[in-house]
Amino acid sequence: MKIHEYQAKLLLKEYDIPIQDGYVIENIGAAEETILKVKNKFKSKDVVVKAQIHAGGRGKGGGVKFCPNGDDALQSCQNILGMNLITHQTGPGGQLVQKVYITQAFDMAKEFYVGITMDRTTGKDVFMVSTEGGMEIEEVAKETPEKIIKVWIDPLEGFRSFQLAKLARGLNLEGSQYKQAVKILKKMYVCFKEKDISLLEINPLVETDNGEIIAIDAKMNFDSNAL
Ligand code: GDP
Ligand code: MG
Repeated sequence: MKIHEYQAKLLLKEYDIPIQDGYVIENIGAAEETILKVKNKFKSKDVVVKAQIHAGGRGKGGGVKFCPNGDDALQSCQNILGMNLITHQTGPGGQLVQKVYITQAFDMAKEFYVGITMDRTTGKDVFMVSTEGGMEIEEVAKETPEKIIKVWIDPLEGFRSFQLAKLARGLNLEGSQYKQAVKILKKMYVCFKEKDISLLEINPLVETDNGEIIAIDAKMNFDSNAL
């Protein structure tokens, strides 16, 4: 089972992981006041309008729009809500956009990939990070596999501190950003285990211009028996 980005982010927020936050609308009548609410609540001049479908690659498919000053946000909501969004993950038929997530926006200095899944061949969880965030991780795996750092977490030993350090160092961060990343990675793994998630990806996790580490996107799949 898959859940939407906004639902996955609510779970991350429960675990104290900093997210790009916002509100969801299902009809265009609510767009204008929600755009204002996002700007005020999150003190964000700019706004992002994001289609909620059960597939990634929305940005490239025209389902994610960055709206400077929020000026085109209403128009973007009109364009995206109700559209049939085709991405490389939806298949040629696309998916109908029934929900739009209106969020605060950040100026991004760096984009990272962080993800956890179960590795069936070893019976261990594999935690992967890369400095090549924002791109499809499958592409990175194909073109520059050395840029994906992986650790395998033994179910009996748990997530060891040297493994956590290896991942955080793999993001090439220092000082406060390193510390923020350590906290986020640690909490991600707790969330992954407690919520019985089969795939948890944040792509991109970003370092903002202000030096904050924030989850911009979130993807979660669940085994059907986790329900
Ligand atoms: P995906 O295309 O389905 O993976 O959707 P994402 O949530 O990852 O958004 C797509 C892209 O939009 C991101 O990789 C970013 O490049 C861009 N984006 C999303 N939110 C922001 C933001 O707050 N600021 C900026 N500058 N870009 C953003
Ligand atoms: Mg993404």
